[in-house]
Amino acid sequence: MSLPIECLFCKFVAGTLPTEIVGQNERAIAFRDINPQAPVHVLVVPREHYADVATLAAASPEALADVIALAQEVALNEADGEYRLIFNSGPLAGQSVFHVHGHVLGGKKLGWNPA
Ligand code: 5GP
Ligand code: ZN
Repeated sequence: MSLPIECLFCKFVAGTLPTEIVGQNERAIAFRDINPQAPVHVLVVPREHYADVATLAAASPEALADVIALAQEVALNEADGEYRLIFNSGPLAGQSVFHVHGHVLGGKKLGWNPA
């Protein structure tokens, strides 16, 4: 795999750019979204760079399991374990950072308006 040196989330993983880390495990880290869409809005990313969730699932199911376990842990800590976990895949779906990330959203009654 080529080194994604221009990847923002790789820089958060490496610690070369600061961000507020709210949880981590062997293969994943969690940090707050800079533009929160809910009282709890945390991004959970694998430490290794993959573009999207399907690529991650095919290449490293263990890392995907760690991403999901960390999302659950963050939600238990911050939103009583009730949350939405979203992976945008592709620009049309709203993906703007191509290092796979799950959005953990919670802390209020969530609506359903993906438009
Ligand atoms: P996407 O649109 O790819 O699904 O999600 C990317 C997310 O990354 C957005 O919700 C956006 O607010 C967040 N984001 C973009 N730049 C930064 C940043 O510099 N720091 C943090 N913490 N989040 C960011
Ligand atoms: Zn990356």
